[in-house]
Amino acid sequence: MNRRNFLIKSSLACGAVTAGLSTTNAFSLKNLNMTKNKLELSWRPYTLDLKHVFTIATSSRTTTPVMLTEIKYGDITGYGEASMPPYLGESQESVDIFLKKVNLSQFNDPTELEKILDYIDGLDIKNTAAKASVDIALHDLVGKLIGQPWYKIWGYDASKTPVTSFTIGIDTPEVVRQKVKEAEEFKVLKVKLGRDTDKEMIETIRSVTDKPLVTDVNQGWKDKHAALDMIHWLAERNVEFIEQPMPKEDVDSNAWLTENSPIPIIGDEAVQGIEDAIRAKGVYSGINIKLMKCGGMRNANKMVTIAKAFGMKVMVGCMTETSCAISAASHISPECDWADLDGALLISNDIFEGTKVINGKVTLSDLPGIGLKKI
Ligand code: MG
Repeated sequence: MNRRNFLIKSSLACGAVTAGLSTTNAFSLKNLNMTKNKLELSWRPYTLDLKHVFTIATSSRTTTPVMLTEIKYGDITGYGEASMPPYLGESQESVDIFLKKVNLSQFNDPTELEKILDYIDGLDIKNTAAKASVDIALHDLVGKLIGQPWYKIWGYDASKTPVTSFTIGIDTPEVVRQKVKEAEEFKVLKVKLGRDTDKEMIETIRSVTDKPLVTDVNQGWKDKHAALDMIHWLAERNVEFIEQPMPKEDVDSNAWLTENSPIPIIGDEAVQGIEDAIRAKGVYSGINIKLMKCGGMRNANKMVTIAKAFGMKVMVGCMTETSCAISAASHISPECDWADLDGALLISNDIFEGTKVINGKVTLSDLPGIGLKKI
């Protein structure tokens, strides 16, 4: 190797190490024809069938509408997804309207993630699930171009992924006991509370298992003193945390509970995006980050940094989603205290294979991008 080639190789290797990438992959990215290829976005609606009727404090349902997206660049395709549970206010129709406004053909270089995603963000207010469907597909594409999964690009340690909880919806004692049996593989169960059957739910589950529980009230409690009594009762029954105990608008009561509770209080409905993560300091012990609320992987990763800088707990959650959006979310999980990534396990018609749950633990795939295979 002559001196010139040595210097070129050395500087590329140095840049590659800084970015957490191998030299080989830095070369392959450099060789891409960034001026010739164009980014092409496409999308189609899909309906997820739930294995069980899913009931939380405010609603029941058997299906979830999603939108599946693809971004093509040359012969490489990135996959994305928007999941729209009814209470978030987005629908397949609203996502379709948003995506029709997107013109990615103006960008030649997909690795300019910040520039492209700032453009997406500026197209309209809210529409966070629609924005996430573009963000996820772009991250998948860029990871594939670089040849690495995102947890490595971000420098996270795959061995540090947490176990994931498995959600037991509100139901009759008989069905609840059956669901607990089906969830044998999971080390932590998440219990939906917020109705007048809360103690019965916990006692039913405790009649069949001693596993740690986490609970989600989905804003269902209205009186802070009754809520605190209930939290003490739950803490005595090995409940690790309470998610969104009271309405998100009632900041003072949620903050009072956080101050007085023996176990962490996690903000979910109250914490949608980056601004909310900043406002959550002093109100909640931690935040539940979901890609569909915050607009995708870029913002989710920033929220991890914000929460940790504030000394707050971090949880990564999901909607009912295919393995596409679940895998995308799982790349921040090594930095999270808890994961609630059971969304793809609740559906009977997944079309992807990606991040898996093995012995209850979130297990990242080594495939590049968000780590997906189509099935
Ligand atoms: Mg929740």
